[in-house]
Amino acid sequence: MTDTTIFGKIIRREIPADIVFEDEHLIAFRDIAPSAPVHVLFVPKTPIATLDAACGEHAELLGRLMLAAADYARRAGFSEPGYRVVVNCNGDGGQTVFQLHLHLLAGAPLGGFGVAR
Ligand code: AMP
Repeated sequence: MTDTTIFGKIIRREIPADIVFEDEHLIAFRDIAPSAPVHVLFVPKTPIATLDAACGEHAELLGRLMLAAADYARRAGFSEPGYRVVVNCNGDGGQTVFQLHLHLLAGAPLGGFGVAR
């Protein structure tokens, strides 16, 4: 299955992105419309549309995504001040790109979250 989303195009270098990390499993790049001073997206190279579509065979990959975000945050100096990791799922979750991804938000105190107002 090929990832036909915009993130698939970034993975295949069909469109540019500010890539901050890549290995054989995942890619990380800066969000084009950041919601915090630091906003990096961690995207598995395996196409998985949503968190809801993930299953047991993806357990290791999901762990890699979390650890890659934590490693990046640590190297960037955000361990002590803190940061937030978010996965949006489907419409009410605010997901707009249907290739599973993890948002890393850092660089300032982050507000609360919940029902959109
Ligand atoms: P979500 O709403 O969880 O699906 O998040 C999708 C994110 O992708 C949004 O925060 C967008 O700003 C971001 N985004 C969309 N297109 C690009 C792009 N070409 N490069 C980097 N980030 C993008």
